[in-house]
Amino acid sequence: MRIAMIGGGYVGLVSGACFAEFGVEVAVVEADAAKLAALRAGRMPIYEPGLEQLVADNVAAGRLSFGDDLAAAVAEAEAVFIAVGTPTRRGDGHADLSYVYAAVEQVARALRGPAVIVTKSTVPVGTGRRIAELVRQVRPELDFDVASNPEFLREGNAIGDFMRPDRVVIGCESPRAQEVLRRLYRPLNLIEVPIVFTAIETAELIKYAANAFLAMKVTFINEMADLCERVGADVHDVARGIGLDGRIGRKFLHPGPGFGGSCFPKDTLALMRIAQEAGAPSRLVEAVVAVNDARKAGMAARIVAACGGSVRGRTVAVLGLTFKPETDDMRDSPALPIVARLVEDGAQVRAFDPAGMEQARPLLPHGVTYCHDALDAAAGADALVVVTEWNEFRALAPARLRTAMRGSVLVDLRNVYDPVAMTQAGFSYHAIGRART
Ligand code: NAD
Repeated sequence: MRIAMIGGGYVGLVSGACFAEFGVEVAVVEADAAKLAALRAGRMPIYEPGLEQLVADNVAAGRLSFGDDLAAAVAEAEAVFIAVGTPTRRGDGHADLSYVYAAVEQVARALRGPAVIVTKSTVPVGTGRRIAELVRQVRPELDFDVASNPEFLREGNAIGDFMRPDRVVIGCESPRAQEVLRRLYRPLNLIEVPIVFTAIETAELIKYAANAFLAMKVTFINEMADLCERVGADVHDVARGIGLDGRIGRKFLHPGPGFGGSCFPKDTLALMRIAQEAGAPSRLVEAVVAVNDARKAGMAARIVAACGGSVRGRTVAVLGLTFKPETDDMRDSPALPIVARLVEDGAQVRAFDPAGMEQARPLLPHGVTYCHDALDAAAGADALVVVTEWNEFRALAPARLRTAMRGSVLVDLRNVYDPVAMTQAGFSYHAIGRART
């Protein structure tokens, strides 16, 4: 079986490599010349554990290829996946579909035989139908189907998520499209992954509803964390106490500086707009967006308060810049407003991230010092802030950290440390949703 994957970013590259691992011949089309050159040279343009080996193995086996010749890639493909970006459109919060439609138009012109055009990108409800109309306009005689196959992988665990998903969602209306996609995902069926077949609109909405629900859980526990701080409760015990209830579930109940990343912020915003335009506004989703935005914007103020009300002339070490560990993705990372505000308020920022420094540099203000490791960042700092919970930060010895620093303020926005151990090591320790010890 042959497929084409349009877009070699996080989703296109990981899912393309995983389909190749299933034994399918996959041609990945990437428009960005630098990314393509890296991929062809065996270098990964993104940081994702296990990806380099998976790609190398499948390229060596002749099942995975990278190119920019879209026409050649789709010519013999039974399915063409659209995995291009759908960022927030400037100004109105809607998903920007210009990359999707541009790719679809190119695909429509290039297809030779019958094929299924599948959106893997997260697209607003109704996009599948509009894609079908667009293809019919460009190539009225073409024999094609349209399907929606939203992707649920998480960066940092993308291969595991793709290979062992909780479910696969496929929106399609023709038996032929269903047969092609069933065949493609057959290796997963063998390990009993449920495939949810739905109408196209339903599949499109499932993706937004899933992300909005998870974002709502995170936002809920963040609000509970604020309340815990006021009333002397511990948010971790609250999370455990509610999460053990099977109806609630334990995942996504970790308090922090507010959600970021390439999906939750843009997808909650897009769902908010979709719902408003459909005449069924979601006040819950609107609240999630507003509460999270305010939280991210307010995190720096916490740090300033922990430093006694001003960071002017102080040195602040920032550990972690990416929106979560095990990725180099900086999109909408909480570190962005935090570092910007600290610099604006006159702090010297010494930053370290295990994978995201290169991506962070162009997004952070001038004057930030980029360090070799956590201890280097802590050297001479008055305050230290943990923004991303990389494992290597958890393993830092409190005494060594404390000795490296000039001051003793530790703001742990991910609650990675034991408050008692940190206080004993001489830190003035500030966590999220936990009473000060
Ligand atoms: P990305 O920006 O990393 O990758 C998109 C790639 O498509 C880029 O490399 C770009 O150069 C390429 N591209 C754009 N137009 C092209 C064209 N016409 N031909 C060839 N290549 C083209 O984006 P991503 O994070 O992979 O996200 C892609 C989609 O998947 C989005 O809709 C996103 O919401 C969704 N999604 C992302 C994740 C995630 O964790 N990143 C998870 C699930 C779903």
